[in-house]
Amino acid sequence: MQPDILSDAALLALLQKLISIPSVNPTLAPDESDGEAALAEFARDWLTTHGVDAWLEEVAPGRPNVVARVGDGDGPGLVFCAHIDTVSAAGMSIAPFEPRVEGRRVYGRGSYDMKGGATAAMAATAALSEAELLGSVTLALAVDEEYSSIGADHFVANHEADACIVTEPTEGQLILTHKGFVWSELVTHGQAAHGSRWDLGVSAIGKMGRIIAELERFEEEALRPQTHPELGPASLHCSMIEGGTGISTYAPECRMKVERRTLPGETLDQVQRELQSAVDAAGETAEIDCFFQRAPLVCDSDEPIARCLRDAHKEITGARPEETGVAYWTDAAVFDAAGIPALLYGPAGEGAHGDVEWVDLDSVVNCARVLVEAALRLSDHL
Ligand SMILES: [Zn+2]
Repeated sequence: MQPDILSDAALLALLQKLISIPSVNPTLAPDESDGEAALAEFARDWLTTHGVDAWLEEVAPGRPNVVARVGDGDGPGLVFCAHIDTVSAAGMSIAPFEPRVEGRRVYGRGSYDMKGGATAAMAATAALSEAELLGSVTLALAVDEEYSSIGADHFVANHEADACIVTEPTEGQLILTHKGFVWSELVTHGQAAHGSRWDLGVSAIGKMGRIIAELERFEEEALRPQTHPELGPASLHCSMIEGGTGISTYAPECRMKVERRTLPGETLDQVQRELQSAVDAAGETAEIDCFFQRAPLVCDSDEPIARCLRDAHKEITGARPEETGVAYWTDAAVFDAAGIPALLYGPAGEGAHGDVEWVDLDSVVNCARVLVEAALRLSDHL
């Protein structure tokens, strides 16, 4: 083991370095970013320097994942996964890329979501490089979680594993479930006509309006009462709309995007049917295209990885972790969908996607130690 890698000072230095390399998601904020690659190169070099076999895997031009591995036994293959991209730094009221330390808080864009978790995962991997593992630990530092998760998709398409811990910030809680989502587009067609010709024109926007009313009624009456004990209700909202060609023309077409947040067990087919029912109930016709979906996360609480993480947390902190679900979606569901049991466990802080973002250094240190302990336990487990 290299115990000093898990010291407060070593983890703070690594965290500050990761924050100081901007890695804003280039799809979310094309004007701000090009830093995922710079961060990936730094991480690869840091891992190599600390005795870990590490390399880049290009996911899209200029957008590499970092992959690193310790151990090569036949035992269980565990993955630590963290995303290296962040959301935009626009509008922040602190310096986003000049990490400031105040007490035990470390401020900066991405400190909480999720360079604190990436720091813990990198340090834990390095600390494990001298451990005797029966299996292996693979670190996946993935691009693009904040947009469409092409990094995690690429990793699971190219690597096998038996379990995964995603170190998103969970305040030290063990998260075994979260919601999924389905994105859809609805299109209504009207009849273009001069604005004076009520006898000829049909407004596609008016048609969509009646569909919106039905969707909102469905949301309130059918989805809200459908409550998951840890995730709350399923939900749906009309999030984007466009239509019409001029103020004096009956609108020939209206397009609307709808997001449906799904509970475990809900499927894309089901969402498609719900949308069709709402259109029918409105007495209208519309094209419906469910064009993107991500499944919910469900990890059985008896999975070896859940048991090892729980025991590791207890060993390091002296208490059992709180266990709950979260509403937001994460890369853990990509692993789950690929047949790799996955859970979330990470540091504490505040301000994900907000004006002021910070992570608690002590929670990063704890997280790194729990990851090491969980990996050792899983290695002995199977
Ligand atoms: Zn995140």
